[in-house]
Amino acid sequence: MALSAPALVAGHARAAILTADGELLSLASTDAAAALRTMRPPLVVHAPATFRRLGLKAGAPALDLLELFAFVLPAKPVAPTPRGLALALDLRPPATLEDAAALLPDIAAALLHRLRAAATVPLNAHALGIADRMGRAGWLWAPWVRDMLPPQATPGTDGFRPWRRLPEWEELPPPPPPSSHPVAPAEARARLAAILGPGAEQRPGQADYADAVSAAFAPREAEGTPHLVLAEAGTGTGKTLGYIAPASLWAERNHGPVWISTYTKHLQRQIDAELTRLFPDPAERRRRVVVRKGRENYLCLLNLEDAISGVLGGGGQRLIPLALLARWVAATADGDLQGGDLPGWFNELFGTTATLGLADRRGECIHGACPHYRKCFIEHTIRRARTADLVVANHALVMTQAALGGLDDAVVPTRYVFDEGHHVFEAADSAFAAEISGAEGAELRRWLLGAEGGLSRARGLKRRLDELVVGDKALETPLDAILTAARALPGPGWSQRLTEPPAPERAAGIPGARNPFEVFLSAIRAQIMARVQDERSALYSEEVDAFPVTDAVQDAAPALARALGRLAEPLRTLIRRLGEKLDAEADALDTTTRERIEAALRALQRRALDPLNIWISMLTTLSEPDKEPGEHPTFVHFLVLERREGQDRDATYARHHLDPTRPFAITLGGPAHGLLVTSATLRDSSADAEAGWDAAEARIGAPHLQSTPYRAALGSPFDYARQTRCFLVTDVTTDLAALAAAYRTLFLAAGGGGLGLFTAISRLKAVHARIAPALEEAGIQLLAQHIDPMDNATLVDIFRTEENSCLLGTDAMRDGVDVPGRALRLVVFERVPWPRPDILHRERRIHLSGGDTTGYDDRIARLRLRQAFGRLIRTATDRGVFVLLDRRMPTRLMSAFPPGVHVIRTGLAEAVRQTAAFIHEHQEGWVG
Ligand code: SF4
Repeated sequence: MALSAPALVAGHARAAILTADGELLSLASTDAAAALRTMRPPLVVHAPATFRRLGLKAGAPALDLLELFAFVLPAKPVAPTPRGLALALDLRPPATLEDAAALLPDIAAALLHRLRAAATVPLNAHALGIADRMGRAGWLWAPWVRDMLPPQATPGTDGFRPWRRLPEWEELPPPPPPSSHPVAPAEARARLAAILGPGAEQRPGQADYADAVSAAFAPREAEGTPHLVLAEAGTGTGKTLGYIAPASLWAERNHGPVWISTYTKHLQRQIDAELTRLFPDPAERRRRVVVRKGRENYLCLLNLEDAISGVLGGGGQRLIPLALLARWVAATADGDLQGGDLPGWFNELFGTTATLGLADRRGECIHGACPHYRKCFIEHTIRRARTADLVVANHALVMTQAALGGLDDAVVPTRYVFDEGHHVFEAADSAFAAEISGAEGAELRRWLLGAEGGLSRARGLKRRLDELVVGDKALETPLDAILTAARALPGPGWSQRLTEPPAPERAAGIPGARNPFEVFLSAIRAQIMARVQDERSALYSEEVDAFPVTDAVQDAAPALARALGRLAEPLRTLIRRLGEKLDAEADALDTTTRERIEAALRALQRRALDPLNIWISMLTTLSEPDKEPGEHPTFVHFLVLERREGQDRDATYARHHLDPTRPFAITLGGPAHGLLVTSATLRDSSADAEAGWDAAEARIGAPHLQSTPYRAALGSPFDYARQTRCFLVTDVTTDLAALAAAYRTLFLAAGGGGLGLFTAISRLKAVHARIAPALEEAGIQLLAQHIDPMDNATLVDIFRTEENSCLLGTDAMRDGVDVPGRALRLVVFERVPWPRPDILHRERRIHLSGGDTTGYDDRIARLRLRQAFGRLIRTATDRGVFVLLDRRMPTRLMSAFPPGVHVIRTGLAEAVRQTAAFIHEHQEGWVG
């Protein structure tokens, strides 16, 4: 069956169309949009982004090659561009829009050919049945896909039940505690050499690093004193394999896991990829390494089954993403929906309802009562993690696990590696903070009562516990009391009632009146409005100090505390009685029921009672006498009014630890036996080395431990003087037009390959709007966080793949982009990244700076500049230019840049000229 569709590739201002007759057209976007109206649905790559660039509505019919890719090669990563697809399929990558348009039919043919070649593999056993159904739901690829597949005896709907063919996990006995044999420095070096192999690039610093960090794996000498190693390893040291060497040796020798924690899910995958050097055999790697994330990241098979049942009877186009997801379930390694092997662009194509909406995001798992329990991706991963050597996790999960005593894992590790250790402070800040907000309250109400009206299928507590409690008066009574008391939590439509004045006397007993939670929300909103500095800025979120509280808050807080107490009481009773049932009926309970009760106990405690206890204590604090000015607080309390699109959406009472590393050290550091905290940027590079270490130790909570930290620093092997140029531009004002002109000319001078970093989303958007057409005109694709409908990992994948593209981003891009080679040859930073001047920062700079508030701010800014600069050079062959467009940059921050970097203060024109010359001169120096 011939594929006679036009092919379309769109840039920001123009597009290329290969017509069905083979004519190649280069058109302005508006002309291309007009031409499309007279054509058949075109071949495209990433339909939403393509149509958006042409100013067309998303949802127009198209043959999206990404959908075909997801069908043919589910769970295979690919950058969602013509070039990305070409590279994945071993086709010649296109150089221009026109080349790309001409290539799309070849990409389609290559994919269809692959499907035909693999038509008989198990993955495709039910492919025809799926394609059939997708065709009936309007999937345009269906006729071609069906053509590639042999007729099947029963092309029915079995492909929509992929869980039937998933493996089951086996329960294993609890692992015994690990032993405590040390790893000698020489052994760490030898293990590293073995991982690298004989022909590997020699990096002397890497062996020294492995040697130094082995100290974190020594046997603990006394309770509460873990071996604490702070190891700074300049970019290019090879720290990942450097710590994997002693960590893997320790795990093997002691039969216990080492948990490696990093900051983001994307970085978890990067570490996992490096572990292929240690375990090249995929089966062995799967056994010994587990990437572990929170439950909300994994597909819940029960949710998938529910969703599929809803569409098989005639769910129209909603069937298409679920069908592709069913294909992915059959191919995925671990069912991880975020940053795993489900491509990030899947959400962009189909929305999150068909993906993240099917994860266990609200703690509604029914565990042993679930028909898929033995095949569940989450349960599989948890069990694999119990016996793995290395568990690759993220800071948020590890800290929550420590705070709650093991979460689902049942074991608390004793050895940790914190990679990206400079993020420990902010990760702890999030993990140990608490807030009372409308959204949190409504979420708890939903968890307890289930969906109240609307289309949601959310199960409430009664439905989840019914089989356990029905007929048992001792359990039914507290459950009924819980469901009654839960009505004090924000009800449907609470957000619209937020702006009503607090009127506590109306709170009780009047039908339709606000409940105590809603009255409290209105009261804190009113306090925020009374205390904000600038009442005109009604577009943005606001925050004010919680103390001193207004009279309305003073009244509303205890009323809410009492209402929450009435909810907590029966929860405690139910938990106690379920525990008693476990004990009393130990002989009679079957395994499934026992597991269900245990899961219910955990969920009731963590999902409901723990937050309620914290909320009640916070509300009690609001009723206490005001703090004295200047008093050193344990917590910082503040109120936030969240606004979106000019509307008040939520009001929050937030409580953060002044020093969040304190609970981090107490809950995680104290029980641990060894902690390695490592990063390329642990220390501030100010003149005083000792002060730099002291500040680094304070940022990870070392002063709260009894251990004496072991310090190690390995410089970067890169020759920054030779490999980089660094300009501080002195004649660009803060005016947006001037800022945009600077970005445009610099990106053009580099011919693309530029990463533009911003400290504010609004300025990023303004600059993007001004420079996109000119860059497009020059053949440079401009990608942007907060603008392109793609997640950060997808944007970085495209940026890495499309060598002459540019990328604009904010903090996440500043800290998390790893793009070696020519694809990143220029970093342009808009302004000095000072800490955000909010209430939390105000308190921390007063109380944690030792009196040197300016020095405190400077340290944070310097570390961020170091991070930004660190994006530029990732390998010994990289070359790059760093440009800061903030002429107010104080000289005292210049030490942020690595030794050897000479900062040239100059005007924009000269910076542009030298950037072009440097990049042109080193054109040949790059490797891939
Ligand atoms: S066990 Fe829980 S998370 Fe797993 S599939 Fe069943 S309901 Fe979903």
